Amino acid sequence: MNWQKQLHIWIILGLVLGLGYGILSAAMGWGEFTQNWISPFGDIFLNALFMIAVPLVLGSIITGVSSLSDTRKLARIGGKTIAIYIGTTVFALIIGLVLVNIVRPGDTVPEDVRTELQAEWSDMAEERQESAASAEERGPLQAFVDMVPRNIAAAASNNRNMLQVVLIAVLFGIALLLIPKEKAQPLLGLFESLTATVIKLVEIIMWIAPLGVFALLADTVSLISGDNLSELWRLLGALGFYMLVVLAGLVLQVVITYGSLIKFFTPMGIKKFIMGIAPAQLVAFSTSSSGATLPVTMDRVENKLGVGEEVSSFVLPLGATINMDGTALYQAVAAVFIAQTLGIALGFMDQIEIILLAVLASIGTAAVPSAGIIMLIIILQSVGVPAAGIALILGVDRILDMCRTVCNVTGDATVATLVASSEGQIET
Ligand code: ASP
Repeated sequence: MNWQKQLHIWIILGLVLGLGYGILSAAMGWGEFTQNWISPFGDIFLNALFMIAVPLVLGSIITGVSSLSDTRKLARIGGKTIAIYIGTTVFALIIGLVLVNIVRPGDTVPEDVRTELQAEWSDMAEERQESAASAEERGPLQAFVDMVPRNIAAAASNNRNMLQVVLIAVLFGIALLLIPKEKAQPLLGLFESLTATVIKLVEIIMWIAPLGVFALLADTVSLISGDNLSELWRLLGALGFYMLVVLAGLVLQVVITYGSLIKFFTPMGIKKFIMGIAPAQLVAFSTSSSGATLPVTMDRVENKLGVGEEVSSFVLPLGATINMDGTALYQAVAAVFIAQTLGIALGFMDQIEIILLAVLASIGTAAVPSAGIIMLIIILQSVGVPAAGIALILGVDRILDMCRTVCNVTGDATVATLVASSEGQIET
């Protein structure tokens, strides 16, 4: 059996065993052992993926952009990509808002549970509020200022700065397109070689994916529940309804929005799409980071879905940084849920404001674990809901982060497939 072909089965095995082990570890009080001897394998896997994310974005966007025949083509593909990204995010937000307004999960949280959760998570909520405050104190154009780095090396030194790296790469790609071919060739050759090497590295790193996923899952379960399994069940019981609404929204976004885009606007079969992208979804689930998953997404979309490099090398890194449908959906549901729990009524206009803010917030959210909650605070403050309310949902945030990241990554792959088929750059 070619094990690379069966990769997703191995990763699922790692995931299920990691979940089982995490529960066992919590039940037996093995928290310390798990932290010392199991979790590091998850960190190694995660670090290895992050390690190659910056060179991959740089190499692939530069080669992708400079291989386009002219800048008009770049503008066409870029414009199309950004418009579809925003369109799918708005769809996700509508799904989330409709669900949370119909089901109203906030109405079912008993008063005592609410007080308890707020007391228990208030310290962490304050920490997050401080990070959000520094993000909010900036002027309206600050986001654009932040996109342009002063120093290339500094931009490349932090995975949270991926948008800056994307901009550097696009600019370099355009400049390479505009200079004479013989001058461009040496640098282009270097980046082509860098990209090929990094793609090979992805394959190598994926050898340890099942182990990495096992350790990440075990670590997450053990961190959420500590050495007390009843804590996990209590949280799931109290916030189960809210979680179900977020999960149902994510499933609807994947099945309805992405499913119909693939079925009706691309020549690809749904089965091929799912089988092709599954390992990336599983890595997204266990790492909670679309940035860390990007190398795997690129590998699968190019090699298994047959999307041409010209499209994937530009659309996917951009998507990992700015397209977060799952995050936007979660932010909308969470904002309304918190308002419902605290007894604050949000009118139609408030909800429209949530849509606008969440589209922007999902663009500005870094592709790393838990980034979505910081932007959620800014949304809450804008619609007049006390930001301390995030204490209500922090306990289960990691679980939802895992799920929304799967949706984010699936959305990027869907749009890459869609753009590639509209450009006639897909092998079927
Ligand atoms: N973890 C998410 C991602 O990387 C972002 C978030 O919603 O926190 O896609």
